[in-house]
Amino acid sequence: MRAAIIGGGVAGLTAAYELEKSGAEYTLFEAGSRLGGVLSSVRAGGSILEDGPDSFLTEKPAGAELCRELGLGADLLPSNDAQRRTWIVVGNRLVSLPDGLMFLIPTKLVPTALSPLFSIGTKIRMGLELLHAPRPADEDESVAALVERHYGPEVVDRLAGPLLSGIYGGEANQLSARAVLPKLVEMETNFGSLTRAMLAARKQMRAKSAAANRPPAANAAGQAPRGIFTTLRNGLQQMVDALAAKLNPQAIRLQTPIRMIERDGSGWRLTHAGGSERFDAVILAAPAWAAADLLATVDAQLGDELAGIPYSSSITVNLIYDEAQLGPLPDGFGFLVPSSSGRAMLACTFAHRKFLGRTAPGKAVLRVFLGGVRNAALLEQPDEVLLATARRELSEILGPRVIGPHIEPEEARVSRWPLAMAQYAVGHLERVDRIKERVAALPGLHLIGNAYDGIGISDCIRLGRQAAAETLRVSASR
Ligand SMILES: Cc1cc2nc3c(=O)[nH]c(=O)nc-3n(C[C@H](O)[C@H](O)[C@H](O)COP(=O)(O)OP(=O)(O)OC[C@H]3O[C@@H](n4cnc5c(N)ncnc54)[C@H](O)[C@@H]3O)c2cc1C
Repeated sequence: MRAAIIGGGVAGLTAAYELEKSGAEYTLFEAGSRLGGVLSSVRAGGSILEDGPDSFLTEKPAGAELCRELGLGADLLPSNDAQRRTWIVVGNRLVSLPDGLMFLIPTKLVPTALSPLFSIGTKIRMGLELLHAPRPADEDESVAALVERHYGPEVVDRLAGPLLSGIYGGEANQLSARAVLPKLVEMETNFGSLTRAMLAARKQMRAKSAAANRPPAANAAGQAPRGIFTTLRNGLQQMVDALAAKLNPQAIRLQTPIRMIERDGSGWRLTHAGGSERFDAVILAAPAWAAADLLATVDAQLGDELAGIPYSSSITVNLIYDEAQLGPLPDGFGFLVPSSSGRAMLACTFAHRKFLGRTAPGKAVLRVFLGGVRNAALLEQPDEVLLATARRELSEILGPRVIGPHIEPEEARVSRWPLAMAQYAVGHLERVDRIKERVAALPGLHLIGNAYDGIGISDCIRLGRQAAAETLRVSASR
């Protein structure tokens, strides 16, 4: 059995690693000059800078499990949750997210009632929300429609929108409630009120923790609390390097974009600039828009479905400052920017606080996100313009006394990620079902990556492992 993997991001690399472990013959084709896709970190002036993602969600175990398997267990680093606090930009002011939010839902009465994030009208609506009756889940709808029905437009603007755009770079009025917040849809069906449902879930969690005689945030071994996020001490590039080191170098072809895929008997023929090659199985780990182009001639309907998955682009700007030159930054991990503020910035992370020990002493790393669906044109702007935009907006939001426009960063690094984040738009789950159905009729083909069944690094790792296991299973049964 010979397998081809198209795309050397974390999904494709994980699939290659699994095939390598089992001794299968495979070739990984990567269009770019390096492996890792959007995972990329560098060391600058003694600090780690993440160009793309900075961590994985700890509650999804695949990321940390793979790191341990690769011998990186000692380098796993939890987020510094003792200092976890997030701010929302309201006008030119920062307002703290109220304590007790679970999945966007306020569950603590007093902090929510006292929070300046919401108007009196919204607070009254939040109280009345407790009276909502169960509602059968009909058609899919946007996250904005679901949240607005319960809590009103202000909660969409100041809470759901910024939190989701921090994850997807997308807009709450386009993202699918069923794909992005399935728990809330289920809660509405069963309870009606999302607040009541969340309070019941919290009570249950507490009871379980008490029964297990451990604090709710303790890890499986009952030891020290885990962070919500986990990263690697020397940057996520460590995972890419460790994966690459496990692969047979002869099996990796960089700068080899696949241009065409065709059926060839019971197998597949792949064409690239150097010619064409036959494989028994293909794991397509490129973004859905690239998969759409490659598969349109194999199955036009599949190509159309894949092309229908929208993507957003994003930009990160990493700025290293001498802390002594800055005024005091607000507590916490950083802030989110609602789209109604009309700014280019989506969010800013105080990276030196979120993960300790990755920044040179006395320095602050501000990681700014620009772009997203609403500002796609920014991608075309030169670095100087993006840097100036990030610095101007930082000064407006944090105040010139904290970060005056005259304060020069010691290092600045701009990274562009065009069409890198799939958007789970309304109807996404049905679309993915249709895609799966068509792929099932094409033996030996697997589609993986962030477009289908989970957007995060751990999801891509899980799907990479699954696709490799399925490829091996089919070849063993032949
Ligand atoms: C800025 C940013 C921040 C993020 N932050 C987080 C985070 O903190 N935590 C988290 O869990 N997730 C985060 N994500 C999401 C997560 O990083 C991605 O979903 C995941 O890494 C995608 O991996 P992938 O392998 O599917 O795709 P990619 O990394 O996009 O890799 C796909 C690869 O396919 C290659 N390719 C494309 N076409 C072809 C072709 N024709 N032939 C050969 N190769 C081809 C590309 O060159 C690319 O290398 C973030 C994403 C971005 C962009």
